[in-house]
Amino acid sequence: MEPLVAAIDQGTSSTRFLVFNAKTAELISHHQVEISQIFPKEGWVEEDPREIIQSIYECINRTCEKLGQLNIEVSNIKAVGVTNQRETTLVWDKETGQPLYNAIVWLDLRTQSTVERLINKAPGKDKNHLKYKTGLPISTYFSAVKLRWLLDNVDEIHEAVVKDRAIFGTVDSWIIWCLTGGKNGGVHCTDVSNASRTMLFNIHTMDWDPELCRYFDIPMDILPEVRSSSEIYGWMKSGLLEGVPISGCLGDQSAALVGHMFFEEGEAKNTYGTGCFLLRNTGTKRVMSDHGLLTTVAYKLGKDKPACYALEGSVAIAGAVVRWLKDNMGIIQTSSDIEKLAAAAGTSYGCYFVPAFSGLYAPYWEPSARGIICGLTQFTNKNHLAFAALEAVCFQTREILDAMNQDSGVPLKQLGVDGGMTANRLLMQLQADILCIPVVRPTMSETTALGAAMAAGAAEGVNVWNLSPGQLPHLTSERYEPELNPEESEYRFARWKKAVQKAMNWETID
Ligand code: ADP
Repeated sequence: MEPLVAAIDQGTSSTRFLVFNAKTAELISHHQVEISQIFPKEGWVEEDPREIIQSIYECINRTCEKLGQLNIEVSNIKAVGVTNQRETTLVWDKETGQPLYNAIVWLDLRTQSTVERLINKAPGKDKNHLKYKTGLPISTYFSAVKLRWLLDNVDEIHEAVVKDRAIFGTVDSWIIWCLTGGKNGGVHCTDVSNASRTMLFNIHTMDWDPELCRYFDIPMDILPEVRSSSEIYGWMKSGLLEGVPISGCLGDQSAALVGHMFFEEGEAKNTYGTGCFLLRNTGTKRVMSDHGLLTTVAYKLGKDKPACYALEGSVAIAGAVVRWLKDNMGIIQTSSDIEKLAAAAGTSYGCYFVPAFSGLYAPYWEPSARGIICGLTQFTNKNHLAFAALEAVCFQTREILDAMNQDSGVPLKQLGVDGGMTANRLLMQLQADILCIPVVRPTMSETTALGAAMAAGAAEGVNVWNLSPGQLPHLTSERYEPELNPEESEYRFARWKKAVQKAMNWETID
């Protein structure tokens, strides 16, 4: 039996465990469990850290059962990689092993007033005041402000810090700590891609930055050790995979870039999940954006390997708008129903839907924007609204692509895509039409998990996955060519931009 490598893919909406063949990248077996989202107040989004860990063990157990049904020994799994929703912030007690608060999810807006205060205090009220060191604008999105909120507002956390019992981590750190033993010797670490989303990490020195920690008043001894994205961090301490090394760790968007095998400078992918995230590999160069994009650490595939960077355009709401139409409006029963509904109209009939539910991320970074639907007439129906929701995802991506082309000076020729929403063929065709470039979707859609598995399999001491050029497995894909006349596409995009202006500054906190 050829060696197998597994990945834990802990996303915002669900947890998955997947097992791949390390020679062919074939997906052998997997299991997925939905994660509950908790909305304690308007704008607040939390998840239960214990549910996250339980969902991982459930997925591992069910996947191993399925392997048994295929007559495949679990002992063929040589390594486990972790990939995760980024920025989501946790603090736990290292002595009891228990979380001290729910995980504050990346989309959460509770820190909006803190962010506005920090920006107002910055020289020239510049939200990019810390961008040189971090690659990021000051925003509710990143972990530092969420961690500050936890230290200020949760008594148990404050007390645990004083007693030297509290430790902080993003979801990757929490998972690795729990799976390598938790309070009985769990490893407290993160990788460079996740660390670069905290706003406490210096993307030049590649380490926690004392000045940034002072700025946010974060005690440095609660931070995890920063490691590369591909090395043995520790071993599974219990369960069916006891003794298997955990040897890959990548934030989900970085993992997707690796899963597409976009190791060359200039290659780009967009992942359509809860939000959507377009990353363009810039190699070992840190390209600073003049157009509202982030500079982020893409990956560092080994202790002695160079760090590679990416320009990133982050869109907060993509699949989440479909979930909103399902859960809040009830116009669809399942997310995939939207395709039929939108296809029945084939147009938004002049309706534009800006889903700025959590403010607007790139390229605007405007926390006080709020969602709007405009251009309604007596004729508008739910089919048009469904179409407008899908178009919104495509227009947001077009804004990012334009910014990226301007920053890099070299227009992108095609876009690799992945993520839950890419099952929607209407969306894929619309995206090619609105970008005016081909969109290429790998047939095996679990690109994020594949990237984490590749990083784990390639780690020193595991060595079952060869990432050298020429040794990479070939992925089959589906290609969507632009079919719309570019003038029509430009006209619709211009109307979209007008709608965005109406959504801006809707709710400014005094
Ligand atoms: P995440 O990694 O953020 O948890 P996924 O990649 O699992 O997200 O994608 C889930 C998201 O995609 C959900 O928000 C869901 O509403 C949306 N989605 C799933 N299938 C479809 C579909 N066929 N058409 C449109 N949206 C979809």
